[in-house]
Amino acid sequence: MRLILLGPPGAGKGTQAQRLVNRHKIVQLSTGDMLRAAVKAGTPVGLKAKDIMARGELVPDDVVVAIVADRIDQPDAKKGFILDGFPRTVPQAEALDAMLARKGLGLDAVIELKVDDGMLLKRIENRVADTQARGETVRADDNPDSLKKRLTGYYAQTAPLAGYYARKGKLSSIDGMASIPQVATEIDKILGRVAGRARPAGAKRRPAKASKAGAKVKPKAGRKGKAAKSPAKSASRRKKGSSVKRRRTLAGSKRPKRS
Ligand code: AMP
Repeated sequence: MRLILLGPPGAGKGTQAQRLVNRHKIVQLSTGDMLRAAVKAGTPVGLKAKDIMARGELVPDDVVVAIVADRIDQPDAKKGFILDGFPRTVPQAEALDAMLARKGLGLDAVIELKVDDGMLLKRIENRVADTQARGETVRADDNPDSLKKRLTGYYAQTAPLAGYYARKGKLSSIDGMASIPQVATEIDKILGRVAGRARPAGAKRRPAKASKAGAKVKPKAGRKGKAAKSPAKSASRRKKGSSVKRRRTLAGSKRPKRS
């Protein structure tokens, strides 16, 4: 199984990924963790990334794409992986598509955890308190200023990935503000549906039914996730002029509200 967890910093991607690792015996590939390890080890990548990360900015695409390409070639990733924190930009998503296509692999699902900014700030504050209580070093970017920057970056650069994967019919969005077990249940339901759709190896494709003339064809992209709307619906909403509501975020930027 190969999947992507999408969501803003503090959305709970790491927590859910850990659970999936134990359950499905696949590996979690967190670019944030890999970069932090590189910073700690003082590798050339780490030296390049250190200050960028502390400022809450994104490390250049080519650096993270190279890290991921190396990592998914490792034997422990052969059974499957969960990408956490990658891709974070559309060029990264395109690079991932190309990388997987070259290896003859595909993605099974992209799951987006949707969480309000206020809740994210609280979660980051809790993470800092928990880390301090354990006597560990707090992440350099776990502070309100860096969080605001990371959120601004998320809405500008990463949020468009929801549309990117919805168009490919891969996206499922869930309420990341629910409790950890509830979010886990929703993720399991999605993965169950994905597994149900996957044809067993060797099974024959059913012959396509002859379509009735004039019958409506449901567009493929957008069927799976709430966020994925039919182009016709979106167009008619835009026409009515109501459509794209905006709301102010903690980051001080505006972002479109997706239903
Ligand atoms: P995270 O642990 O996912 O919140 O990532 C921590 C920091 O690592 C981010 O704020 C970025 O500076 C950097 N980072 C992690 N993943 C990526 C990525 N895919 N692209 C660029 N920078 C990344």
